[in-house]
Amino acid sequence: MDSPSPPSPSERIDVFWHEGMLKHDTGTGVFDTLIDPGFLEVLEKHPENSDRVKNIVSILKKGPISPYISWKPGRFASIPELLSFHSPEYINELIEADKAGGKTLCSGTILNPGSWDASLLAAGTALTAMKHILDGHGKIAYALVRPPGHHAQPTRADGYCFLNNAGLAVKLALDSGCERVVVIDIDVHYGNGTAEGFYKSDNVLTISLHMNHGSWGSSHPQNGSVDELGEGKGFGFNLNIPLPNGTGDQGYQYAMNELVVPAVQKFEPAMMVLVVGQDSSAFDPNGRQCLTMDGYREIGRIVQKLADKHSTGRLLTVQEGGYHITYSAYCLHATLEGVLSLPVPLLSDPIAYYPEDEALTVKVVDSIKQYWEENVPIFSQD
Ligand SMILES: [Zn+2]
Repeated sequence: MDSPSPPSPSERIDVFWHEGMLKHDTGTGVFDTLIDPGFLEVLEKHPENSDRVKNIVSILKKGPISPYISWKPGRFASIPELLSFHSPEYINELIEADKAGGKTLCSGTILNPGSWDASLLAAGTALTAMKHILDGHGKIAYALVRPPGHHAQPTRADGYCFLNNAGLAVKLALDSGCERVVVIDIDVHYGNGTAEGFYKSDNVLTISLHMNHGSWGSSHPQNGSVDELGEGKGFGFNLNIPLPNGTGDQGYQYAMNELVVPAVQKFEPAMMVLVVGQDSSAFDPNGRQCLTMDGYREIGRIVQKLADKHSTGRLLTVQEGGYHITYSAYCLHATLEGVLSLPVPLLSDPIAYYPEDEALTVKVVDSIKQYWEENVPIFSQD
């Protein structure tokens, strides 16, 4: 990777966490189906299980980044807080599902006993992390939360997500006087829930880099395609960057520099939110992209530079997917190294070995750029 320009040293990351989020038990089966076909000896845990987050907690406590981490407690969200993003009918559906002992809300998305409390903790912890920044107690915060949130739409659950943790944090920033908030989502899946929540708003620029998976049914009607640009005054403030399968460090860096950086510069946000999923890594069972630790580190660095320029260094990072039990923790470590703008890597990559052919990604990114220049007002008004 490029050697970093003079770092803007940020001394610490405030990490918000509550172990109650481990109590969301998603079960076992064939991947995320919870099906036991009867002929397998070893059934695996649902990919969104507590082990992945235990390893993230552990690497931040014991890994080389640990001196830079300050731990802060998470908390439960209140029901009224949830209504800033979600409809009362949908929240009642979740409350009733919890009272009834559980419910499958859509494919792979199961509310079990303990799941609702964990969801309230995830939402409250993201809100607390944002409030911490808004109140000036710190500039860089990471909400280490599960269940994830970016597929949860105002009126429905989707893709292992019940409550949109990042969306709620964005609402809090808006309600606290931030006029413009940008969300950069690098989870391998389209951040459709967050996009939907702000689809008609010009106060929130939602940018999502994802694999080109399209719609996956009634819980996820959005395609994540470049022409889903927002509606009404929100037109042009939802920017989708579907990347070809196999996009790796060079392709992501190109997309960040050619698309994300100019978009953020034109939008001039007062607050930045980085939505991270390590399922865009080369070894994720749920993604087809090829990021390694170097790529995540560079993305962290690019985003923090944007924050330094536009939002006085204020950046909230919110955890989403990432299903390789080991590598997700390593990639999160690398992302936060980048956010800290550390001059040299603290941790080497134990398993990166896939080759990358970035030619196709470069071509796709160039065509998205041209599409934006022709269709997106903030790009075409130069
Ligand atoms: Zn994902």
